[in-house]
Formats: sequence, C-alpha cells, structure tokens
Amino acid sequence: MFDLTREFAKEQDQLDPLKTYREQFYFPQRNGRDAIYFCGNSLGLQAKNIKPAIEQELQDWKDYAVEGYWGAKNPWLYYQQYCSKPLTDLVGASQDELTVMNTLTVNLHLMMLSFYRPTKERFKVLMEAGAFPSDQYAVETQVKMHGYDPATAIVEIAPRQGEHLIREEDIFEIIAQESSSLALILLGGINYYTGQLFNMQSITEAAHRVGAVAGFDLAHVVGNVPLKLHDWNVDFAVWCSYKYLNGGPGAVGGAFVHERHARNIDQQRLGGWWGNEESTRFKMEKGFKPKSRAEGWQLSTAQVFNMVALKASLELFESAGIAALRDKSIKLTNYLEFLLKHIENIKFEIITPKNCKERGAQLSLLFHDGGKHIQQKMTDAGIIVDWREPGVIRVSPAPLYNSYGDVFHFYEIIANIDSNA
Ligand SMILES: *Cc1c(COP(=O)(O)O)cnc(C)c1O
Repeated sequence: MFDLTREFAKEQDQLDPLKTYREQFYFPQRNGRDAIYFCGNSLGLQAKNIKPAIEQELQDWKDYAVEGYWGAKNPWLYYQQYCSKPLTDLVGASQDELTVMNTLTVNLHLMMLSFYRPTKERFKVLMEAGAFPSDQYAVETQVKMHGYDPATAIVEIAPRQGEHLIREEDIFEIIAQESSSLALILLGGINYYTGQLFNMQSITEAAHRVGAVAGFDLAHVVGNVPLKLHDWNVDFAVWCSYKYLNGGPGAVGGAFVHERHARNIDQQRLGGWWGNEESTRFKMEKGFKPKSRAEGWQLSTAQVFNMVALKASLELFESAGIAALRDKSIKLTNYLEFLLKHIENIKFEIITPKNCKERGAQLSLLFHDGGKHIQQKMTDAGIIVDWREPGVIRVSPAPLYNSYGDVFHFYEIIANIDSNA
C-alpha cells in the first residue's frame, strides 16, 4: 500500500480530500522554511481565521461595551454554545450534554465533586499507573479531601512486567476484584505517553456492571479520534482544547455530562450564577436552580476571549468533518509507521499499539538510550516533536494540517541522522 519514494507522498497529497486545510494554518519557521510540526498533540497550530475572530470581539467590545452580551455579532451571553455545537459531532453527544468552561484540571475536580461520592464501602478510584501528573494530583487530593488514604483508595492499573501497554483483560480483572469497593474509574481515553487508545465503551459497561462510575480524560482524544460518549453511556468526560483542537495556549476546556445526570438538577455540585436557570439568573434571588443540562455545572461568565480561538478552529473541524479527518489520520500514521520501520541508523521501539483502532495520530518512539540526543538532532534539522521522560519521543501528524510530504520529509531527515555524532 505504501512505498518509500518521494513521488508516493506527492501523489497522496494530491489525492488528499483535506489538502486545502493546510494552507489555513501558520507553521513555525525553522531554518528559513516551515518546520515539520508533529506536536499538535501538545499544542495545535494557529489557524488563520483566529486573528479576525479575535478582532471581531475587540471591535464589538469597543462598539457595544456591555450591550455586546446580547448585541455583538456573536452575543457573548451564549458564547459557550458556539463551541458546544460543533463539539457534538466530535464527541458524539447532544448539545445539552456539553459545555466549555474553565480548564481541564478544574473541570476534572468539578466532575469528581459530583461523581466521586465515596462511602465507607465504595471509595476506590481506578486509574492508569503513570497517568498524566495533573490527573494524579487531582485524584490524590480529592481522595484526601474525602478523608481517605491515597495508598488504599487509588488502585493503579499498569502494563505487565516487560510490556508497555495495558491489557484490557487486566482492567476487567481489577474491576471484578474490586467490584464492591470501586467508586470511580478514571482513565485517559488515550494514554499521553504510549498513545494507547482504550475501549471506552466496554470499560464503561464493566464499570456500570459493578456499580461504579466511568469518567474519562480526553485531552488526547477530542479532535483526534471520533467518540460516541452518549451511546457508550460514559458518565462524564473532560478535555482541554489546546492540543488537537487548536484552541491556543491555555484555551477553555470542555466537559461532557451524560444526559441522565445532566437532567438531574438534584445531582450534587458546586454552583455559580452561570450554571443557574437563565430565567432566574438575574433575579438575584436565594436558592441555586441549576440548568438541567451540562451547562448547569458552569460557574462564571462566559470567557469570551478564552473561547474565541476555539470557536474559530472548530469551524474548520465542522467543515472538514471528524470522519474524514480520522480516515486521513489513520493513513498518515500508518504511513509514518511504515517509513519508521525502514530506519536503521537509529535504534528505537514503537510502543504505541500496532492496530490503528487502538491508537490515534500519535506514535511513541521509545529509546533505551540516547533519545534526548536524537530529539535534539531532530530539532536542529527543523523538526518539532516532543520528549517525554523517561524515554519517549512522541510524533503526531495532525490530519487537519499535516501532509504525507511532511511525513516523508521527517523520514528523510531522520534516516540521515548520525546518532554517534
Ligand atoms: C494535557 C493534559 C492535561 C492538561 O491539563 P490542564 O488542566 O489543561 O493543564 C491533563 N490531563 C491529560 C491526560 C493531558 O494530556
């Protein structure tokens, strides 16, 4: 299906139905040309429609001041909905189950306050060993806040000795073992280090069978792999918007609350006026009446300038379509894998699952030694990829703006790296 020639990459780029999107992004410049940017899993590139979108809000603020809440071109009162609408397709949820607010870790805490309600019998949280540090800290501190000891309340699932990936059967095994003590399963939908994509549907089913809640951190999934959060019955999910979604550094985060919880206004939560029913929000009366949808978890006024880049970027996702993006992504990443298998001058192991259904765009290259040195060589040659301790270079071609040519060029450069120099 693939071959090692430059012509092949050129041909694939010409055939690519999404090829025009690349020109709609700014690429950082290295050595007088566009960098080979495979770091969209860490910080997505800036789309060219973002600056005019920000300028529109600056103009409306200038022209309308407070009246912009209802009188701006995009009334600020409902700004989160300009993002939650295009997100419905990306995550497979109704708009009532979605909102954008705060940032990922804040949203994880808010969701845990609602859905991690430990009792003396059922107080444990199952998570990945070596989960992203922010998730570890969030779970550790929540467990402590409820008066439990992280050493016993947090159950970690790790790869088996000598393996890099977590086996699904081992997750089910632990769920069965802890069936009466498990309160919450919290996994990264894609593990940030290995790039392993979990089967969220079957994990959610397993959690529900034993009476536990299933929540996911989708930082590495949204905008990368299509989801069906509603149909899978996931209880809640959170994500950030600056990775595959290109919302810009520190952009507003997203949250999903399944309809069966979102509609339940008696669900415990921390309240703020922006989550209150709109009809009574400005009456300044006593008594919090949450909206009967995911927006019922919002606390504060819509953060317009923190959402505008995401809104603009999501317009591109909407027009490209997540299904088409995923098709291209599978091909691009398979192509990258094919080329990497022909590399002989540097030694590494690809630890990401080989099956494209168990991964997104990212491949993780594990170096037993000298990886940092190789990453520096890549950087010097105009490649932007990242290094994650203790030994991984993560390489993520993003289908919205990366090309087959980028992948080939990356291969050509690293095939000529002298690892001893
Ligand atoms: C990127 C990432 C985060 C970042 O959290 P912020 O609150 O946005 O800083 C959290 N969890 C995972 C798994 C991530 O990949």
